[in-house]
Amino acid sequence: MNYEGMVYRPPSEAYSLIIQATVGCSHNKCTFCSMYKDDTFKIKPVDKIKDELVEAREYYKSVNRIFIADGDALAMKQEDLVDICSFIGEVFPECDRIGIYGSPNSILRKTEEELIELKKLGIGILYLGVESGSEKILEAIKKGVTREEMIKAGQRVKKSGIKLSITLISGIGGKELTREHSLESASIINEISPDYVGLLTLMVEPSTEMYQAVRDGKMTLLSPEEVLLETKLMVEHINIDKCVFRSNHASNYINLAGTLARDKEKILEQIDLGLSVSNLSDKEKYRRL
Ligand code: SF4
Repeated sequence: MNYEGMVYRPPSEAYSLIIQATVGCSHNKCTFCSMYKDDTFKIKPVDKIKDELVEAREYYKSVNRIFIADGDALAMKQEDLVDICSFIGEVFPECDRIGIYGSPNSILRKTEEELIELKKLGIGILYLGVESGSEKILEAIKKGVTREEMIKAGQRVKKSGIKLSITLISGIGGKELTREHSLESASIINEISPDYVGLLTLMVEPSTEMYQAVRDGKMTLLSPEEVLLETKLMVEHINIDKCVFRSNHASNYINLAGTLARDKEKILEQIDLGLSVSNLSDKEKYRRL
C-alpha cells in the first residue's frame, strides 16, 4: 500500500484494511494536536485510490472492514466518496462496514440525504473528535466550530443512521476549566447521544501551541487524581442510553469500559477504585513538562 506520511486510525479499526484517501487534516489548527503538523492536506485522485483497492484485493482473501483514512476523509466531494464506496462494494463484496473520520465542518457540509446515501453504500461508522463540550474550550483549542455547530454535526450523523463514535479529551481545559469541561462535555454527550464515546487523556506534545501555553503558565495541567475526578463528574452527569463508553486508550490512567446507562454505577466504582490507588503519582511525573 502506498501510504503518505503518518497514517492514523481509531483503535477499533485495528483489524481493518486502511485505505488512505486523503493526506493530513483539512483543519490542522487545533492547539493540542501534533498529528499532521508536517503534512499539507490533500485529497488523493480517485483513480489512485481505486488502484490501491485493487492491489489490496490481491493480498487479502477476506476483508470485513475497511477504514478510509486520513484525518478528515469526509472532506472529499460527495461524488468521489460515492464512487469509492461503490467501488469497495464491487471489489470487496464481503466487506460489512466502512469507517471514516469526519471533522465537524466536513459533516456540516454534507446534507442528511448525502450521509444517508453514504450509509447505503456501506459507511457504517463515523469518528468525530468533539474534544470538549465547553464553548470556551472549543474556542481556546481552535477547534474551528462552536458547541452548537458540534452538536448539529453529531446529530446529523445520528439522524442518517450511520453509527457515531465521538472522542473527548480529559484535562483539555486544564485546572482552570476542569469543572466546566466535565459538565459541558456530559451535556454535549447527552445532546448528541452518540453510539460510542471514547475518552482520551491529554498528552501535551512539544510541537504544539498548547505546550507553549503550559510553559507560559496560561494553562495548568491536571494531576492523575484530578483527571479521575473530572471523569467522575462527567460520567455522573451523562444521562443517555445504549452508548458504549470507553476510556482505555494508552493515554488513560485507568481503563474504564461499559455500556451507559446500564453500567454507570460500575464505571463510577472503577473510578473510585482508581482514586484509591496511591501510586498514580508514578505516572504523573511522565506528564510534567
Ligand atoms: S481536527 Fe483533528 S486531526 Fe485536525 S488538527 Fe484538530 S485534532 Fe488534529
